[in-house]
Amino acid sequence: MLCSNPMFERSLFVGAHLDDIELAAGGTAARLVQAGARVRFLVMSTSEYTSYNGIHFRDAVVAKEEGQEAAATLGVKEFDVLQFPAKDVENHSTVVEAINAIVDDFRPTMVFTHWPFDTHRSHANTALATIAASRYYNSVLMYEPITPAGRSYVGFRPQLYMNIDDTIDLKLRALRCHRSELEKYGEQWIEGVEARSRYRGYEMRARYGEAFEVSRLEAVLA
Ligand SMILES: [Zn+2]
Repeated sequence: MLCSNPMFERSLFVGAHLDDIELAAGGTAARLVQAGARVRFLVMSTSEYTSYNGIHFRDAVVAKEEGQEAAATLGVKEFDVLQFPAKDVENHSTVVEAINAIVDDFRPTMVFTHWPFDTHRSHANTALATIAASRYYNSVLMYEPITPAGRSYVGFRPQLYMNIDDTIDLKLRALRCHRSELEKYGEQWIEGVEARSRYRGYEMRARYGEAFEVSRLEAVLA
């Protein structure tokens, strides 16, 4: 089945960690899959996490299994995980070129990535590296900062909205696949994500929504 909207025909989602894409844009990804788009997830790190005081929260093998289950829940079959360090994805030529290889292979009509003012350095650097790697492609959208890690000092400007009434359940179910994150943050983690989706939905006169800031956008007619 071909996507009904050529702008989203091949949609690439880039996130620093296993769970970022689902948190900020999972409802949109599921909607695009249902609309017949080809959707591919690119995650920059294996996402294992040990705190400065030695407390180990997340194991790389477990994180990948959870991420694969979450992507499958959204209907996403194309899924790449790169090996950059979870806390230190850099805006460096090796990172840009690694994204570049995937971008040139996939030739996305739409790229989704983090927002550069997200205060988690790996999120911000992933955004900058993705925008650089997508320089020959015309449409890049940036999703909202990841809470609680990326809470910002700058206001996010919601410029493009997606109604996710039909996929909010899949989004929340995908988040629950990340059991090691749920254990770390508790049930309020899911509630916070649902509340933001509800708020964006209210703004756009839907029940649930997701919002994006535009980096650049090509208008394409069917
Ligand atoms: Zn993250």
